[in-house]
Amino acid sequence: MKLHHLSIAQLRMMLLKKQISKKEVFKYFQSRIQKLNPTVNAILTETEETETMDDVTLPLYGIPFSMKDTYLTKGIRTTAGSRILKDYIPQYDATVYTKLKNSGAILIGKSNCDAWGHGSSTENSDFGPVKNPWNNAYVAGGSSGGSAASVISGMSMFDIGEDTGGSIRLPSSFCSTVGLKVSYGLTSRYGCIAYASSLDTVGPIGKSVEDVAIILEIIAGNDLLDATSVRHKIPKYTRTLRDKKNGLVIGLPKEYFKNSLTPSVAKKIQETIAVYKEMGIAFKEVSLSLTDYAIAAYYLLATSEASSNLARYDSVRFGNDRSVFGEEAKRRMMLGAFTLSAGYYDAYYIKATKIRSLIKQEFDTVFKEVDLLLAPTSPTPAFKLGEKINDPLQMYLSDIFTIPTNIAGIPALSVPCGLSEDTKLPVGFQLLGPAFSEELILQTAYRYENAVGGFLKFNAA
Ligand code: GLN
Repeated sequence: MKLHHLSIAQLRMMLLKKQISKKEVFKYFQSRIQKLNPTVNAILTETEETETMDDVTLPLYGIPFSMKDTYLTKGIRTTAGSRILKDYIPQYDATVYTKLKNSGAILIGKSNCDAWGHGSSTENSDFGPVKNPWNNAYVAGGSSGGSAASVISGMSMFDIGEDTGGSIRLPSSFCSTVGLKVSYGLTSRYGCIAYASSLDTVGPIGKSVEDVAIILEIIAGNDLLDATSVRHKIPKYTRTLRDKKNGLVIGLPKEYFKNSLTPSVAKKIQETIAVYKEMGIAFKEVSLSLTDYAIAAYYLLATSEASSNLARYDSVRFGNDRSVFGEEAKRRMMLGAFTLSAGYYDAYYIKATKIRSLIKQEFDTVFKEVDLLLAPTSPTPAFKLGEKINDPLQMYLSDIFTIPTNIAGIPALSVPCGLSEDTKLPVGFQLLGPAFSEELILQTAYRYENAVGGFLKFNAA
């Protein structure tokens, strides 16, 4: 039996009924890693089976998962994809890891990523790029490329990615996983190696919408160790997943359907809209006129914060001089230090923060008219390895449709919607909603997934 084709709920049922032991499950996924990882390069560090809670009633009892290598794991190497941390063994656990362990899940590996989360293709990892499991000549997306690749190739049951400007959604779109960028503050960032602290979010990547809802229910909520985490009550996402909101209206932001969108992606998005129309859901064209400014504002805000966050890895603490940083990290530190410097601060950084407020206000206004928005996750399917790595601007433009949500702090879920006609590579669409509307987003995605016959059981075996 192919265990990696099962949903979390199905595998959990087998474990509960003792049709399989937790040890056997772990060994199965370990052998998947041994077989596939030499090619895909999704996992940087394999972990041994750890002693976990031996309580079969736990929601994730015996479920093996991987986690982006930006999350601290006590006693287990954590690199953030950078050679600066190649031998770093953390002294404590990230909150998200503690929560998953307490739910019975077992860590099987740490996933490859662009160094410090900087990138859209995982080619900026100091440990070599991740290959797209659908076609090894293509990128898996980034920066959480190893996360999506490990899930879709069946090396782990789910993964925890990190999304600052699209890093969960872009790989999800390129590899055909379901990836959730949560509302800022819904999940704790404690123990996550920071990229840009005001934009970073911690979220699940899974094979199906239900799997993502299961994980979200466990990892969401207030954490005393992260003052930016929310205080309000967290809904039971799995219990309401099958609910259908009456009179749902979905907006189509016209700026997301402009010429940068390739025809193969546009076609899949139109097919997705048709599936929803078939259910009787109403659509309305809306405008997010500031979309064109989002990339510029983001690369000022994100690099400013990155230059400050990366300053801690200096030679005093880590014994490395700055030449150990990769090209992209150096580019961002220099840009960020420049935008924060006297004389330029007002012209660049402050201006970007003003644009940020305006972008958020524009989303707020649109969400008075419609419940959710539907848009492509990326203008293109996965591109070839090496195609954009020497052209930073082209690489930055991959995130044109994902970045505005991080700037506004709102949630967005990338959902697979088939393969592109030409390259036969996955395409994803995203559902965006007002802050803390994850429940409605998941319900609406679940309706689509069911209408097209359930989640995809692709694997790279
Ligand atoms: N590609 C974007 C960047 O390089 C987003 C990365 C992310 O979300 N971590 O900044």
